[in-house]
Parts: sequence; structure tokens; C-alpha cells
Amino acid sequence: MVFTGPAMHEAHQYRKNEDGTVTCSLCNHRCSIKAGRHGICGVRKNEQGTLVAETYGKISAEAIDPIEKKPLYHYLPGTLSYSLGGIGCNFHCEHCQNWHISRANPEEARLRDLAPEEGVHRAIAGKCASIAWTYNEPTIWHEYALDMGTLARSKGLGTIYVTNGYITEEALREISPMLGAFRVDLKAFNEEFYKKVCGAHLAPVLDSAILARELGMHIETVTLVIPGLNDDMEELKGLIRWVIEHLGPATPMHFTAFHPDYKMMDRGATPLAMLEKIYKSAKDLGLDFPYIGNVFNNPYENTYCPVCGTILIERYGFSSRFMGLDDRQCRNCGEQIEIVRHVP
Ligand code: SF4
Repeated sequence: MVFTGPAMHEAHQYRKNEDGTVTCSLCNHRCSIKAGRHGICGVRKNEQGTLVAETYGKISAEAIDPIEKKPLYHYLPGTLSYSLGGIGCNFHCEHCQNWHISRANPEEARLRDLAPEEGVHRAIAGKCASIAWTYNEPTIWHEYALDMGTLARSKGLGTIYVTNGYITEEALREISPMLGAFRVDLKAFNEEFYKKVCGAHLAPVLDSAILARELGMHIETVTLVIPGLNDDMEELKGLIRWVIEHLGPATPMHFTAFHPDYKMMDRGATPLAMLEKIYKSAKDLGLDFPYIGNVFNNPYENTYCPVCGTILIERYGFSSRFMGLDDRQCRNCGEQIEIVRHVP
């Protein structure tokens, strides 16, 4: 069957108003949208009082990636993930590394049709263990990810959002039966950063991370460490303490190196010594699985047993070598490791 993509796919998670506007409740911007206009994300449009998901079934990019590239280190490690991107974003980060798709608009972007069924078929044919909605913000692809993800789970695949976490409670609850992993950016522990750099707020991101955990999703966090913007050690320690308290000490936290991009070309890359300092602080504070990323072949990319220090998974680039792990157990001391090896 040839999928042409529905011309008008009515959105979920919105309310029609008497004056012809609609109020979208998919993300925490909760846009009020006039007829003929888009919301902040640029892909949800008020068509004569109906909110339309313009990019349903439309993709800008697809690839088969090692799951470590997301990065996800404790969810189906060592497997491949069928990875999809659309266009648009509900954040407007100055340092966006995928700006060519996050800032594209539906009229001008070169998009291809991909039915949910075909996406699942390609994932299985490509020997992938999961599907990841990843290259742009998946929240704004809600209806499409929901349809594909529900089918994917019925076929035994894992499902992953690589997200900024700005999804609302009601939308997160709607997708929770199909979503296995919530790989959420914690961009800074600082409201000013979220306001100025991303055009958003911090608190809803923290709330969605807590809710995702309560709903049973696997969570890993990523903080891109930008020199002079979010690299204050006390602030980072505050973030690590928050994660330990609210998401648990076994939550993998990735601290990754910034490289100048898009509108943020006024500063250099993150020094390796800075990332290593953050790693050590995180361990001192009691976090079991800190990682550093966007670096070349560093021992702090490996997974160690938090009890005896045995190397469990050694990483080189995006490849993983299982060293001291028997399913989910440390081979040396028998500690149970919080890691998802099989799709539940
Ligand atoms: S998804 Fe967010 S940004 Fe897009 S229309 Fe809805 S509330 Fe606005």
C-alpha cells in the first residue's frame, strides 16, 4: 500500500475556542493559535478552528544508529535503533546542532512520506531493537510517534524519545503506554538559561522527568556543558543532587562537550578537564552512573559497577564491549545493575 500521508491529520491534545482560536496542550507553551497560524513549534496549524498536525507521516531524516549515539547507555545497550527525524521544534536554542531541520518549515522542507507501519517494518528489517524519534523534538510529532510506537511495542521493539522534556502531563500520560525510554535534556539547572537560550522554562522539564519515571519509563539525562553559560560547578552540583533525589542515584547522567554551532559561535569547545571534574563531583555526590560524551575514547564513557568498580561495559566510539556483566548482574560482586537488556 502506498502511503501518501493524510492531507489533514487532526491533532490530539487541544481545545477549540468560541472565537475560532485553538489552545494546544501538547507542550508547556500551551499556545493559543489564531485561524491560519502555527504554534511556536511551526508544525501545528489552526485550519479553520481545527488544530492540524502538519508533519504527521512526514520525515526529514532516517538512519540506523547504535543506540549509544542517542546517547543511551542503559537501555538495550549494544543494539541498533531505527532513528527518525521530522522538522520543527518548540525550543529555539541558540546552539542547536540540528537547526537545519528544527528551524525548517513544512512548506519549504524536503520531506518524505513514511507510514507508521512502514517505519516499524524498516526497523525490523534493519535488525533494530528499537525505534527512536530523535533528530528534532519528538513531542511535536505526538500523533505520529504514538501510532508508530504503539505498533512497534506490539512487535517487541523498544521505543525512545530524545526530548527536551517540555511535554505536558496530559500528553506524556497519553504516550506512556507505548514509550519505553525518555532520554531527556537537562540543559541547565537555571531558569534564566531556559528563558534566554531556549525560550522556555525549567520547572516543566523537571516535572516531566519525574512523571516519566513514575510512569515506568527508563530515563537518562543529557547536559551539554557550554563554557560560561551553564558550567558553574555549584549549579551543576545542584542539578546532580536534584537527579539523585527525584530520579534516583542509578539514573545515568551524560555530560557532553559543546562545540560552537548555529548562533552560538562566540565561545570555544568544552575543555575535557571540565567534563572530568564534573564526573568526579557526580561520583562524590553519590551518582552511580555519570558519563562524559562528545569526547574521544575516554574511560569515563565506560560503565563501572557502583559497588566494586569492575568494568561492566567498555565503550569505544559508539561500540560497546560487555566485559563484566551477566545479563543485569556484576560478574564480580553480584550487584544488580539498573539496565534494560530486553524490551519488557
Ligand atoms: S506543541 Fe507546543 S509549541 Fe507546538 S503548538 Fe502545541 S503548545 Fe505550541
